[in-house]
Amino acid sequence: MGIIRELPETLISQIAAGEIVERPSHLVKELCENAIDASAQNILIEVSSDARSLIRVTDDGFGIMPDDLPMALKRHATSKIHDVSDLWRIQTYGFRGEALAAIGSVCRLTLTSQHYQSTSAYRIQCDFGLLGQPVEVSHPQGTTVEVRDLFENMPARLKFLKSPAYEISQIRQIIRALALSYPNIRWRLKVNGKLDLLFSDTSLEKRASSILETPTVFSYSSKENNMECQIYYAHPHDKSHSNKSVWLFVQKRLINDRSLFAAIMEGYRSILMHQEYPKIIVSIVVPPEKVDVNVSPTKSEVRFTEPGKIFHLVSSTIRRALEQNSSLSKGLDASSPNGTLKSTTLPINEIPDGYQTNIPVFSSPAGSQLNLLHDSSTLHLERNGSIPQVHIPNSIIREGLTTPPDTKISSENPSSHPTFWSELKIIGQVRNTYLVCESPDAIVIIDQHAADERIRFEQIQQNLKSQTMAFQKMLYPLLIDMSPEKKEILLKNKNEIRQLGIQIEEVGPRTIGVTEHVDWIEESCLPQLLHQMAHELLEHETTLAVADWKDHWVATQACHGAIRAGQALSLQEMVALLKNMDTYSFSSFCPHGRPVAVFYPFRELEKDFCRT
Ligand code: ADP
Ligand code: MG
Repeated sequence: MGIIRELPETLISQIAAGEIVERPSHLVKELCENAIDASAQNILIEVSSDARSLIRVTDDGFGIMPDDLPMALKRHATSKIHDVSDLWRIQTYGFRGEALAAIGSVCRLTLTSQHYQSTSAYRIQCDFGLLGQPVEVSHPQGTTVEVRDLFENMPARLKFLKSPAYEISQIRQIIRALALSYPNIRWRLKVNGKLDLLFSDTSLEKRASSILETPTVFSYSSKENNMECQIYYAHPHDKSHSNKSVWLFVQKRLINDRSLFAAIMEGYRSILMHQEYPKIIVSIVVPPEKVDVNVSPTKSEVRFTEPGKIFHLVSSTIRRALEQNSSLSKGLDASSPNGTLKSTTLPINEIPDGYQTNIPVFSSPAGSQLNLLHDSSTLHLERNGSIPQVHIPNSIIREGLTTPPDTKISSENPSSHPTFWSELKIIGQVRNTYLVCESPDAIVIIDQHAADERIRFEQIQQNLKSQTMAFQKMLYPLLIDMSPEKKEILLKNKNEIRQLGIQIEEVGPRTIGVTEHVDWIEESCLPQLLHQMAHELLEHETTLAVADWKDHWVATQACHGAIRAGQALSLQEMVALLKNMDTYSFSSFCPHGRPVAVFYPFRELEKDFCRT
């Protein structure tokens, strides 16, 4: 007699449960997703303070027909998938009809529901996989799933649970993510009977601002070949020290994806410091056949058919949004949680209440170039609290960058000429290091080195981007000795290095010759630069390292030629510096992400002098 047996159904469900509901938050997610699929408008989640003796999700969705109640708790029973092609275009959250059966095998579950076409409600019980008979009860239209004594029959699983506080914080994260995806649903979480989270129905902007915990939220979106990327983000000065502030959604599902996370960070390149994270929500929607969402049972991973394109979409959308956002070229408003920037509402941003901008905000005599650039992009600035809601058009492209010279800014758009810095009244220079200036409502102190460093950084970047780099041919090649390994790796990356403005040739077994280079690289820097680059390349063995290296290197060059701290400046030099700050993007960040200016609002000054 053979020894191979089929596993009993309950055991199969229990094994599946291990994947689907590893922890209480996963269970909450499954139950909430079922409620969303049932078109619920109100979802209430209740948990006990230990996050496992009671978890209850109540919705007002369309409910379950009495005959379907036992089916709902069967494995691989679903109303959502009918054939294989459905698997590829899943629009609902249904996975494979396993969730309820799996959950029911590891707890005491009651499923109570009244279908919208039915006159009475029924309840069915499932105790650790043992299914009861439906009984009639009273229950409003919709469904309640109650889970008690989770994992009581599986001591091994219980051991994997972390502290109740941790499990509850995970539940909150799940609910926040769902609340973002579904702003028109009213979400409530009660812990031990007490209201813990409440998201009443609201606009996506408001929900984004409350979830990012930032008073001001900007938004932007772009579309490439049917793939859409929408972002909501805080002012980059309002940043986080944990990556929890980065929210990534694909097809409205919260996703964990290292590559897309890298794409987001790439968008913030040279704006944030090491170990700093942006507060951002990124939502990607692609045609269903371009993504597989069923990679993992918890559905927290996805696989794209064209990952490279998605990476580019995400990083370029963020970059464009930041580049075009005029409010970023100066400091943050008074609500900034980090004390470095204290600017208040600056007049440049004040637009009548209710002002709503539609793209394009430019009236562009030069034709379609701008419209194209602003295609489907929107930007709103919102403030909470007493300050009325303000909408700010995006779209300030700084002079000298992409704006055609004859572009006019439409008159309904008072904020949009980027002359914030050059309009400051210069009071003087202190310690030969800081410019002290006056804006209509603040004292503005600018770090001259940091400011100039950013300007030079942007200038060099632009130079690199333009195909017309001015190479300087050398009479004799500059010879640099190095190890054969270094020499080889540099030659292998010869083309990339040329893109950085340096032309190299092999001269000897241990010697590289520089034959041409762009004029803004100081010749004396070349040996050190190439040695350092070879070292990095050997370390990482990728061509990507060149791109990584480029920023570092441009930053070094920018730093090299920039105005120093301790350097006395003439009035003309100060004026020129401020003018340049208006010309280039991100002038309120030095290339290392440090702030460039500090704002001391008169409001604060008056408070400090007890004048209010
Ligand atoms: P799936 O969601 O993959 O279909 P589940 O085990 O989560 O599998 O649910 C099984 C079925 O039970 C669903 O297909 C749906 O028909 C029904 N169902 C579950 N929860 C609800 C709910 N809250 N409201 C209405 N129907 C539900
Ligand atoms: Mg489900």
